[in-house]
This record gives sequence, C-alpha cells and structure tokens, in this order.
Amino acid sequence: MEDWKQLVRNSVNTPEKLASIFDVDLEEMRRVHEVFPIRINPYYLSLIEKPGDPIWRQVVPDPKELVRTGVEEDDPLHEEDDSKVPNVTHRYPDRALFYVNYMCPIYCRFCTRKRKVGDPGSIPDGSIEMGLQYLREHTEVRDVIISGGDPLMLTDRKIEYVVGGLRAIEHIEIIRIGTRVPVTLPQRITPELCQILKKHHPFYINTHFNHPREITPETTEACARLADAGIPLGNQCVLLRGVNDDSTVMAELMKKLLKIRVKPYYIYQADLVYGTDHFRTSVKKGLEIVAALRGHISGLGVPHYVIDAPGGGGKIALIPNSIVSFDDEEIKLRNYEGNVYGYPSMPFYDEDW
Ligand SMILES: *Cc1c(COP(=O)(O)O)cnc(C)c1O
Ligand code: SF4
Repeated sequence: MEDWKQLVRNSVNTPEKLASIFDVDLEEMRRVHEVFPIRINPYYLSLIEKPGDPIWRQVVPDPKELVRTGVEEDDPLHEEDDSKVPNVTHRYPDRALFYVNYMCPIYCRFCTRKRKVGDPGSIPDGSIEMGLQYLREHTEVRDVIISGGDPLMLTDRKIEYVVGGLRAIEHIEIIRIGTRVPVTLPQRITPELCQILKKHHPFYINTHFNHPREITPETTEACARLADAGIPLGNQCVLLRGVNDDSTVMAELMKKLLKIRVKPYYIYQADLVYGTDHFRTSVKKGLEIVAALRGHISGLGVPHYVIDAPGGGGKIALIPNSIVSFDDEEIKLRNYEGNVYGYPSMPFYDEDW
C-alpha cells in the first residue's frame, strides 16, 4: 500500500483514540463527533506541539461546535441553491465549482462544508458523470474548480478520470483543484500524481495553509514537486481566532509561502457556518492584518481579503482605507506608513490635445 494510504488508515478517527492521546473530555468528544467526525492523520498529528496550539485547534473538536448563535446556517453561501446538478455550483458566469468527493486527510473544525465532509451520501453514485455532462452542455464555463472534500484523496485513476474528463471538453480553458493535501498529507503528492496532473495544463492548484508551522520539510517537498510539474500554486487561508488572527503570524505565513513557491491568493473571513462561531474574528481585525501586510512585505505575498457574501452573493474584496478623499481635481491617498499623498484625478489635457 502507498505510504499516504497507510497514513490515512492510521488516523485518529474516534473520540476514544483522541482521548488516549490528549487530556480531553471523552463524553464531549463523542457528542461533537456524532455531528462532525474526527480525523487527524499521523502526519498532521505530529505537528501538534501542545494542546491548544494553532495546529491542535484546527483538528481537535471543541464543544463550542454544538453552540447555535442564531446567525449561522448549514449552507450560508447557498452553494446547494446555486446547484443545477447535485455536485456543481455554477454561480459566476464563466466558472463553476465541481465537488468530486467527501473525504479529507483531516477534518478541519472550521470547515465551510461541515454539512458535507465525511458523509458519503453527499456525493451520490453517478454524480461525477452528471457533473461532467452538465459542464459539457454549458459552453459558457471556461474555468472549473474541482473541490470536495479533498479531491486529491481520490485514487490516481479517479483523478485521471475527472481531470481528463474535463480536459476533453473543448470550452474549458483552465482547470483548478482546491486541495489541502499539500498541507495536511504532503506524502500524497507523489511523482505519479504529478505525472497525471501535468498532462492537463493549463492546470492550477489552490491550497490552504493557515499557519507558518504547517510549512515543514514535507510540505516544502510536496509544493516543489507540484511547482516543478509546472503547476502554479496559490493559497487560500481562513482567518481563524487563536490560529492566525495576528499580523505577525500572517506576515510570517505569507513570506514562508513565497519561499516554497506558493502565491497567497485569498484570506477568507470565516463563513457563517453552524458550529464555527468560536473561530470567527472581527472584520476590523482582518482589515488591520491586510493593512499590516501591504507595503511591509513583497506585493506578491499580499492576498485579497474577502467575505463570501451570505446568501450566495459571491466573494467581495475588502480593501483597507487607502482613499482619504477623491474629487474631480485630486485623489488623496494614504500609504502603508500612514502618510498622505495627492495625485491628479484627471489627465491635464483634453482628449484632442
Ligand atoms: C470561489 C468560487 C469560485 C472561484 O472564484 P475565483 O474568485 O475565480 O477564484 C467559483 N465559484 C464559486 C461558487 C466560488 O465560491
Ligand atoms: S480539508 Fe478542506 S474540505 Fe476538508 S475539512 Fe478541511 S477545510 Fe473542509
């Protein structure tokens, strides 16, 4: 058996196993596990230094996951309302999300798709073929994002089937995979997998590092293999209380990502998903963090800070206030140090100059 499959098989996946490793309340863990399952594979487990640290918080259940505050929903982004077939969300004119599996190498406690991951019923039999058929018929779709669960948990053969199936559709220009595997199970990024993916360029991967401690020799090697296969790598992280809600931590994360050839793409404000309120930070904090990045680190390392609008409005970028005033004469702009600079709003000459 391949190493990565063995690692998944040896995961901590019951409250009893978890309680044998950490000093947690078994009854509490059982109650949460019934609603949202536990999985921590031995690799990710090895990154935990102590209970409560930023790695631990991402994977060890918290009884607060059972709290209902009233603002959260199961599917706040209305991904299912925007689905014409069970596993495609087609919200933007030219691109679509395609869900192909429900498994992940760890179950992140803050996951936006908590309602689906770990549940085999969320990917009905035959739905991959139905999704491919939908995408064949919708010639306006130029860009498909393969998502899940974690698509790279599929076998090489299934990945070839999905990616090859998409590549055979003439109007699809670019294919992307959204995956946490380079972070949570880097052993899965085998030379054989890279061989498959590189056949289907232009092919992009967006991964999901949340903390600088997730950047290890293993994840560095996995990202190098993908980058060497010609796959541009991006990072989409989530702003999480007690994990990365700190501008020094975020700056370190972004700088380290650039060193392993991963381009920071988005920082998400946490979605209003049931059982994740304890992870949410204020929007003000998010804006402070982005303001602390701009100008202070390489522009390449500054992602867009976005809120995915509740109800399916899509991603909306938040930009810290750089415009002090703006009229027909002049725009006054604030730089990263807080100094204000003027710039003429219009060219000096008329068009017929
Ligand atoms: C995020 C998302 C996309 C991709 O958005 P980009 O901004 O192009 O990365 C596409 N469809 C849905 C439903 C999404 O949530
Ligand atoms: S790997 Fe992604 S889809 Fe899976 S539980 Fe974590 S955040 Fe959710």
